[in-house]
Amino acid sequence: MIPISLQEGWFPVSLVLWLGLCFGSFSNVLIYRLPRNLSVVGPRSFCPGCRRTVAWYDNIPLLSWLLLRGKCRHCGIRISPQYLLVELAGAACALIGIWSAGFTLVGLSIGVFLLLLFNVAVIDWGHMIIPHTLTVAGMILGLVFGHFALGDLGDSIIGLLVGGGIILVVSHGYQLIRGVPGMGGGDVMLMGMIGAFLGVWGALGVLFGGALLGSLFALTVGRGRLNGTAKLPFGTFLALAAGVAQLFGEGLFSWYMSKF
Ligand SMILES: [Zn+2]
Repeated sequence: MIPISLQEGWFPVSLVLWLGLCFGSFSNVLIYRLPRNLSVVGPRSFCPGCRRTVAWYDNIPLLSWLLLRGKCRHCGIRISPQYLLVELAGAACALIGIWSAGFTLVGLSIGVFLLLLFNVAVIDWGHMIIPHTLTVAGMILGLVFGHFALGDLGDSIIGLLVGGGIILVVSHGYQLIRGVPGMGGGDVMLMGMIGAFLGVWGALGVLFGGALLGSLFALTVGRGRLNGTAKLPFGTFLALAAGVAQLFGEGLFSWYMSKF
């Protein structure tokens, strides 16, 4: 762990809060545009009602939505509270990062990882797609943080290969037996990203946890919704399990081992 010498206080905390809101605001762009194969850099955000470009002062995270009471300034169409919630989720990811590891590279790594997972979880849930843009960027970031924040690049590399590799093998096996692909390339890349951030043991734990959460969902809530052919947004459950593993992994692991 390489601590960044920042004096903790209201200023750095509010800076992190603001950065989190801005990344949450950018997540709104990613969540809308990536699954639709639209560019994330242009054109600028526009109102879905009157299609006017949103002015910068109407695009300030949190404040604009609250000041305009969730409506477009020009045509008055309702802007979904989802936009506000996603911005707040971005802030939450950033704050959880510094709360769990302080103003360190590890804290930054946790915040970035949670934000990536959040984007993947929302997009896969809504569209059954895990954009490679997110997971490839995530793999690179996972390796960079593995080296500079955790000081164990080897574990990141092995985690990436094992995490992605297991899904690849299972998916091919399923295809051989059932004739249809069980999981997509998106899941392979996602597990690679998760392995790069959490290392090999983390990746194995997430595979177990994700499969458990997915099965529980399929047997309970999803029962009416899913029929034999419907697919499960497995990436959402992997992302959930990865978030839990990042924040509570060590505690869960020692609790599990104490049962033997
Ligand atoms: Zn409008």
